[in-house]
Amino acid sequence: MCALVKLFLASSNPGKLREFRALAGSADALSVTDAPGAHVEIELLPGFDFLPTFQEDAPTFAENATGKALHYSLPGDRRVFADDSGLVVPALGGAPGVHSARYAGPNATSAERNAKLLGALSGKKDRERAAHFVCAIALAQQGRAIAIVTARVDGEILESPRGSGGFGYDPVFYFPALKKTFAELLPEEKNRISHRGKAFRKMLRSLTVS
Ligand code: IMP
Repeated sequence: MCALVKLFLASSNPGKLREFRALAGSADALSVTDAPGAHVEIELLPGFDFLPTFQEDAPTFAENATGKALHYSLPGDRRVFADDSGLVVPALGGAPGVHSARYAGPNATSAERNAKLLGALSGKKDRERAAHFVCAIALAQQGRAIAIVTARVDGEILESPRGSGGFGYDPVFYFPALKKTFAELLPEEKNRISHRGKAFRKMLRSLTVS
């Protein structure tokens, strides 16, 4: 019989749910629980929008993800996970970092954020264009942490955007091993190597399947 693991995502974002479901369904994911072949089912946390909001203003991805998972797992007895992710450019002192979503202001588009990033890197060459995406995922139950994991993927920022897939900073993030930007990868290719895919599989490894 196939073991079932049910996890709840602390978010009301259907796009995020789709992405994590795709990760949970991939063969890579299914081989990393302690019961290979287990079925991992993910739902949005019921009533998320009506729970008191967690202020995501910590200086690290891990703190934000952990704070969210602890906070939203308090009511009930569900296994709840939360993530925080972003782009880090060491030559910019780590920016956009935990402010990745709001780098060009709260209402800016991805194109505007990418334009701001390319402007900030103008004149910078080679190693100064190194960047990495980071994803932290925390899993908690009844206000207790079960797992806190982080993962990163290294690349470099191009001088102009390329590709039409993905989202956010994908068109400017070049992954040398595949000679493509993240926006030029198929979703399955990105999931195999991305910060989010790697962090999610790490989190699954921490699960006890019963
Ligand atoms: P959050 O994790 O929902 O707070 O989103 C963080 C922000 O980081 C997103 O809005 C994107 O701007 C950026 N980001 C995180 N992961 C990715 C990715 O895989 N591709 C492109 N941008 C990303």
